[in-house]
Amino acid sequence: MQAQSRVLVIGMDSADRALLAQWAGEGRLPVIASLIERSGVGLLKSPPALGDDAAWASFATSLSPGRHGRYYHKHLEPGSYRTPWFRDHHFAHAPFWQTLSDAGHRVGVLDVPKCPLGRIRHGFQIADWLVHGRDGETRSVPEPLAADILHRFGDDDTDRPGSSEYICGLPSLSHETQRVFMKRLLAGLQQKREAASELLARGGWDLFLVVFKESHCVQHHFWHLLDESHPAHDPHLIERLGNPILRVFHELDRAIGALIEQSGPDTKGIVFSDLGMTANYTADHLLDEALLRMEPDFPAMLRGLYRDGVRIEEKMRSRLLPQSERSFLRGMRRAYQVDHNEISGAIRINLAGREPSGRVLPGAERDALCKELAADLMELVDPDSGERAVDRVVVTDDAFPGERRDHLPDLFAVWRRDRPITGLASSKIGEVRVNTPEYRPGNHIENGFFVSFGCGEDTSHRATEASIQDIGPTIAALLGGALPDVDGEPIPGIV
Ligand SMILES: [Zn+2]
Ligand SMILES: [Zn+2]
Repeated sequence: MQAQSRVLVIGMDSADRALLAQWAGEGRLPVIASLIERSGVGLLKSPPALGDDAAWASFATSLSPGRHGRYYHKHLEPGSYRTPWFRDHHFAHAPFWQTLSDAGHRVGVLDVPKCPLGRIRHGFQIADWLVHGRDGETRSVPEPLAADILHRFGDDDTDRPGSSEYICGLPSLSHETQRVFMKRLLAGLQQKREAASELLARGGWDLFLVVFKESHCVQHHFWHLLDESHPAHDPHLIERLGNPILRVFHELDRAIGALIEQSGPDTKGIVFSDLGMTANYTADHLLDEALLRMEPDFPAMLRGLYRDGVRIEEKMRSRLLPQSERSFLRGMRRAYQVDHNEISGAIRINLAGREPSGRVLPGAERDALCKELAADLMELVDPDSGERAVDRVVVTDDAFPGERRDHLPDLFAVWRRDRPITGLASSKIGEVRVNTPEYRPGNHIENGFFVSFGCGEDTSHRATEASIQDIGPTIAALLGGALPDVDGEPIPGIV
């Protein structure tokens, strides 16, 4: 197939659109500002209640989470109560760049997070080099490329789970670690910029897709700097480090400008982020005890074992059930919390026929329980403020239909984010309080942004809102093709 044009797509992982708009408006991000001026800035909707794992999986597959099945870096293992790591082989769908490669397009893909390697016939893909939260080792198609990139540009030194080079995994940073973290983030951004530039210069691509992670990492760890009401706000931090988020965004702005410039005047493209960021206020550590207290038949002797933020299953597992993976206690309940990003509390119904010791019958009984739990969750208040703790409950049946719907939790309680949540209380559960564990200061909120360049920029027909699932189909359309059987659609005004 003859490509109609070359397409350059640049992702800024989790870069908050309000911050970008503010700093672009103040002249601090001149490249983003000029893109916004020409194309307008669009709201890029991400899957409701979910964080970066789901957003990037929806980006890569152009599918809703109900069809691709990824909601977190752990997943519900069908037919068990286990929640092991999500890995490449759990994906049932190919990334869209594989479809484009199959159609004869030459693709270059560098570091789309949380995504498997495609089978690339024409071009290359590098995965898990400089990304926030690797799924696995740095790897590539063709295979030798990853080792070559690592050898010549160096490895990641803030985001390697399981190693001492995993500053991103710490809940809080000492002053010295903050300094080291910033230095390494800015150096990593430079590594990515240079590698992208070199790969771009090799030519032979119709689509070049690169994602920068540093916006993600820096906002998680420095959000409290921007928010004077944040309990961890440190007015002296800015004297020590400047504004770390602005420094990273500014360097990203320069890198984006350089890559667009290098790609040439006839290249079309999109710059986008998958999600936003705000203060990390959550009741993640309180939810499972609240759910336990909503259980009508849970044995009285097992109640009240919740202490110091440790879930009852964790205590029981370490004392009594070393091999059980929580299954014994989960099997005794109607519903239980499963691991998820602090953005929302993820709840699984213990469904007969789906879970090994399912207690809730499918159909009317399950529907009634979902309604009851949703109502009970919306009743929860923070006992200190008297304010509701849950912003809204997202019901998987409504939000994420699809063939992998049962791979997802059944309900998500989206936490309010305007103040810290110190406890949970309602007439049904009484009051739950434990010591708040340390959380990173910032965390994801739904929805990112998009801007385009080189696409005519007819703002009169430009969509001001699109979905992250639409980026793949938009790229395909810019290349003169289409993606079969996906949920997204080309964004009006870009194509
Ligand atoms: Zn994150
Ligand atoms: Zn990171």
